[in-house]
Amino acid sequence: MDERQVIFIVTKRCNFDCTYCPIIKEGVSMRFEVARDFLDEYSKENEKIDLKFFGGEPLLEFDLVKEILSYVKLKFREFSFEICTNGFLLTLEMLDFFERENFKFHISIDGDRITQGYKFKDAVNIIDKVPELRRDFPIVNIVLSPKNIWDSYSNFVYLYQKGFRKFKLLPHFFTNWREDEFVEFEKQLSYIFSFIKEKGIYLDNFFIKENRPLVNSGIVVDCKGVEFVDNGFLISDELVDNEVLGGMNERLDRILGSFLDELRNV
Ligand code: SF4
Repeated sequence: MDERQVIFIVTKRCNFDCTYCPIIKEGVSMRFEVARDFLDEYSKENEKIDLKFFGGEPLLEFDLVKEILSYVKLKFREFSFEICTNGFLLTLEMLDFFERENFKFHISIDGDRITQGYKFKDAVNIIDKVPELRRDFPIVNIVLSPKNIWDSYSNFVYLYQKGFRKFKLLPHFFTNWREDEFVEFEKQLSYIFSFIKEKGIYLDNFFIKENRPLVNSGIVVDCKGVEFVDNGFLISDELVDNEVLGGMNERLDRILGSFLDELRNV
């Protein structure tokens, strides 16, 4: 039995062009037959599947996601689902669906209007896509970048005050961090973790193997059905080289890891 997560790149399209996005976008999506062929093979050796829908922006292919989910339910005895979205296309109907199907549902929101503006224009209304009474359902993915790190704690509190209750912290690896930005990263994390401790907040980082955004490992199936061991192929070579050469990841990992360890030991 294969314990690895299966990650379907259901589309390489995205409705945004975030300033910090490292993903190479193309105008292609997965066909249902590609997903079906993989699932047929996989179900020969596995009775259960942990399936993540990834992109690009997977809500651009919501009908495909539903179709795949129905097929998974036919083929497997046990299943769990996860999706990461920028939330722009989210409707109440979709939210109902993801809640009903018990998805681990990630929505990317970095903070207030000003902070969201660093990423893309007019995106703050994404918060309003999630009705107030449902804000304990999504896991809010917060990217911590050199640009927004200075306000990360106040953004975290802002999102909490807006009613969100589950979070994931994603340091931005694919860029250069200056020394003062590293120092600020550590300082802001110390405030955020005190707040997490005080309020007993759910932090998804405790339940994942890697802290790194985007480079998810498992069995990654691209739009054409080609399999990879992680989704690094979505990212341009130049950025991957930069990340490796800079040694920045290790430092960001180490700082975040030490806060996670500390909280684990409380
Ligand atoms: S970060 Fe996500 S939402 Fe933004 S452009 Fe990249 S894939 Fe799209």
